[in-house]
Formats: sequence, structure tokens, C-alpha cells
Amino acid sequence: MTKSRPKNASERTARVAEILRRLDSMYPDVTCALTHGNPWALLVATILFAQCTDKRVNAVTPDLFAKYPTLSDFAAVRPEVLAKDIRSTGFFNNKAKSIVGAAKKIIAEFGGKVPKTIEELLTVPGAARKTANVVLGTAYGIASGVVVDTHVSRISRRLDLTKQSDPVKIERDLVKIIPKEKWILFSHQIIHHGRALCVARSPRCVDCQLETICYAKDKTYWSSPQK
Ligand code: SF4
Repeated sequence: MTKSRPKNASERTARVAEILRRLDSMYPDVTCALTHGNPWALLVATILFAQCTDKRVNAVTPDLFAKYPTLSDFAAVRPEVLAKDIRSTGFFNNKAKSIVGAAKKIIAEFGGKVPKTIEELLTVPGAARKTANVVLGTAYGIASGVVVDTHVSRISRRLDLTKQSDPVKIERDLVKIIPKEKWILFSHQIIHHGRALCVARSPRCVDCQLETICYAKDKTYWSSPQK
């Protein structure tokens, strides 16, 4: 049966803890869907992932890293040449410029290592906040924030964890209520949930373990009448 909405701060805190507990039960071992062998490979894959699918990116990166095995190889290639290699991921001219620019910057200013702080990473071409959080969280295990992509935006609103639509504001709300040690896993779990059940149109609420504590207006199933 769907529970009534929390009425005060302690009930809200308890509800968030319950959401996290149920996410752990639904998605205990999830991680990033982008195949990568090191932080640089993940940064490249994350740049390629914009407006693309993980399947497509994972299909492109093995040949890409076979052709350009080192950071220096990426720094040396002309963007218009690299663009042909990543054409199938879409927006290839901008992505190629970002990747070549990122390789040059990391060699020139960070000793050839992808930096480990969000402040430094945000200065690297192609690494906006979402990308930086993915790389720091997944490649280094550093909880710099919560990754806010389209799934996290949609589901955080459905679960009443934020009322915002701007990703920076959503992240600000989430880091206030999600314990820091859960930031990395929470992002992965919600992204998986957004693909598996809580899809944009017609979420599969009848199969969702969060249903009894979810009040989303576009739920497709209510285990008791809406209050
Ligand atoms: S109950 Fe439905 S809307 Fe709520 S989190 Fe689950 S799938 Fe999403």
C-alpha cells in the first residue's frame, strides 16, 4: 500500500533512507555502463556518450584506443582526423575538438594524468560537471557530487527529492539529502532504474520496489488510492 507523504524533516530523512535501502536491494552491484580501462579512457568515453548510447560508445572505443593507445597520440591527432573515427557517435566535430583539447591540457598542465579534483577537471575541455562527476566517481572512487543526467533529473523529481529542473540545482538538492558515501552508487542506481523501470514514458511502476513511497503524478500504478 502506498504510504502517506512525510510530514516533517525526520520523516523526510527516514523516507530518503528507505529509498536508498530499496535501491540497494534493486540494484546492488551496478556501475558505469561505459567500458574503460583507465581514467583517460573513461573521460573519452564520457565525452563520446553525449547524445549517444553506451552501446554505440562501447562499440567505438576498442578500435579508437587501438589506433590511439596513449594520451600523446590523442594530443597529436588533428581534430578533423579524429572526427572520422568517432563519426558514428554523433556531434563528432565538437567531440573531436574536446578530446584533442583535453589530451593537450592534461599533458601540459596535469603531468599526463587525468586530475583528481573537480576544480581541475572542470578546466579540461569537454569535462562539464556531469562528465567530471562520472570520471571522479567511477575511475577514482572520489565522491565529488551526484551525476545528474536525464534519468537522474526525471527520477529525482518523481521521487520528490527535488523540484528543480536545472541539473546544477538538482545536484545541490541531492547532495544535501543523500549521504556522501552514497553519491557514486546512487547515481549509478538511478541511471539503471531510469533504463530498467522508471522510463520517461509509462514507467513500469507495478514492478518497482519504490512504488509504495513514490508519489509521482505520472505513475502508472497505485497500490492504494492517491492521497
Ligand atoms: S513507482 Fe514508478 S514513477 Fe515511481 S520510481 Fe517507481 S517506476 Fe518511477
